Amino acid sequence: MSSAAPSAEAPTSVPNSPREAVLSGPVSVCIDRPLLSLDRPFTYELTPELRAGVGSLVQVPFHGRLVRAWVLRATDDVPERILKVRGVVSSVRFFDEHGLAFFRRMSERYVAPLATVIARAVPPRVASEERGAAPARSDGGRARSDGSLGAYRNGRALLQALGDGDGTFVVRPGPADEAAVAVACVGAALDGGRTAVVLVPDADPVPATAAAIAEAFGDDAILFLGGDKRGRYRTWLDIAAGRYGVVVGTRPAVFAPLRDVGLVYVDREGHPQHRDERSPSYHARDAATMRGEVDAAVVVLSAFCPSLEASAREHVLVEPAGRPWAPVEVVKPGPEGRSPRLIRVLRDARRAFLFEPVRGYGLARVCRACGEPAACASCRGMLRLERGEIRCVVCGAPGRCASCGAADFGVVRRGAERVEEWARSVATVPVWLLKREDGARSVSEREVLVGGLDALKDLGPQALDLVGILNADASLNRPGVDARERALTAWFEAAAWARREGRVIVQTNASNDPAIQALVSGRPGRFHRAEAPRRAEAGFPVGAPVFRVSGGPDLEDELRALSPRTLLVSGGEDTRICLVVLHPPDLAAFGAAMRRLAVRGEVTRVEAEPHL
Ligand SMILES: [Zn+2]
Ligand SMILES: [Zn+2]
Repeated sequence: MSSAAPSAEAPTSVPNSPREAVLSGPVSVCIDRPLLSLDRPFTYELTPELRAGVGSLVQVPFHGRLVRAWVLRATDDVPERILKVRGVVSSVRFFDEHGLAFFRRMSERYVAPLATVIARAVPPRVASEERGAAPARSDGGRARSDGSLGAYRNGRALLQALGDGDGTFVVRPGPADEAAVAVACVGAALDGGRTAVVLVPDADPVPATAAAIAEAFGDDAILFLGGDKRGRYRTWLDIAAGRYGVVVGTRPAVFAPLRDVGLVYVDREGHPQHRDERSPSYHARDAATMRGEVDAAVVVLSAFCPSLEASAREHVLVEPAGRPWAPVEVVKPGPEGRSPRLIRVLRDARRAFLFEPVRGYGLARVCRACGEPAACASCRGMLRLERGEIRCVVCGAPGRCASCGAADFGVVRRGAERVEEWARSVATVPVWLLKREDGARSVSEREVLVGGLDALKDLGPQALDLVGILNADASLNRPGVDARERALTAWFEAAAWARREGRVIVQTNASNDPAIQALVSGRPGRFHRAEAPRRAEAGFPVGAPVFRVSGGPDLEDELRALSPRTLLVSGGEDTRICLVVLHPPDLAAFGAAMRRLAVRGEVTRVEAEPHL
């Protein structure tokens, strides 16, 4: 893992003029159409009576129709014939020069139309909310401490940078410190006269980190999580008016129109929910980094087990000086996935969590009527016994034998329902299986909770006697480029629920696997060193931009001309679907090529960072 001083380069932040400055004369605008083929500025004449400027939403004539457009800046690039801006849609300025610089970086990095980025950054208007001034900012004024962050390795350097510096810090909080570290960072930014954006992966339940910040900073903090259209717009207007010093929210909060941002904090930075599925399909971690650069702010990427992507970039690592984790024992699974060691510790545990990533009671192995291996009659998929019913894992059809149509199968017992069953026969306290529809919750005072990935939310420290990690080998062998990393991240999150004097027991036949070793040592570095070459060998090096592009037959040659790191092509005569992995310096050339091909109709869709 690299650990280096903050970037010595000059900050690339953008100077800002007053938000209300009125422009007149030729201006470039972004037409409000989410099309790569129109992703360039167009020039119009703006008259001063409109009192419009950077970030104004206006109406312009375009191909014989009136369309909406965003004012970007004054321009000297004046065509022979120039049309006039016809009117202003709203008196609100939806972004300033800082915001625009950030949106442009997003547009370039994800090869998405600027109009798409703006549409994602600015909530839908509710015109009736635009009246009235926002109340003044409260001072928040509560007593704060820096928690234990000051005692962390490089913790002082982080606190100092938050006052008036910048740079990227990867923070590994101790299991009990996740929320306290975030509160300390926000407090240091506010004390330096700056503001803070905190990104959390989930809205429901409200992550303990988000709740702790709301509690610590009172009226100076706003939770920008979910809510109806009117409420979200009202909140956005209040943020833009300078009402708050701290904004906590899910992905879209990275666009919060705060000024003087000193901190962009990403909680559980490797969480899959931090990636947006819709164009520009950004990852909160990368968006936070871009925003941090534009605002000359500190970027904190926080996780119990930092991602490969976070670790691969230039950063300062901040972690506890000692080991705050419970000891981790590795045992072989034993018959039906129950090691004698786990059984013994479970018997004495008052509060425990058993992490079982596989759902249901078991998998059908063989048809009892004809003796053939079990497979779905509709699609030949795997058949799973769950809640008393056998169904196809793939198509959901009721379980019928593909060979003879019978519905009687021999089942291998394995899964969360089976774990609940045997744990009940062992534990001396009640055992509950957390069903997906229940939503995540804390472990009760006397309880063994059984759950999968859905259970692993930021609920604050649980201080359990025992955390059992079952079926580790199944997690490691799942398909997907980042399956192993996801498994390790989940294990670290589960292990964080054990109190320091408690026990973590992981059941695996692969005790020498670098992922298992990373969990045992409490240090992900060894896993990262083993995993990075695997990714590179598979054609997807860490940090290399990946795109899925759909288009016509010329697409393949155009992409080959960029000498990509990896290029996989599928499709028929007239259409191509290309998965392309770029060398990072080629991103700009790729974006230019895609925009050029989009104008010719040769590219129909560009998706950044697709799931692999
Ligand atoms: Zn099926
Ligand atoms: Zn059969």
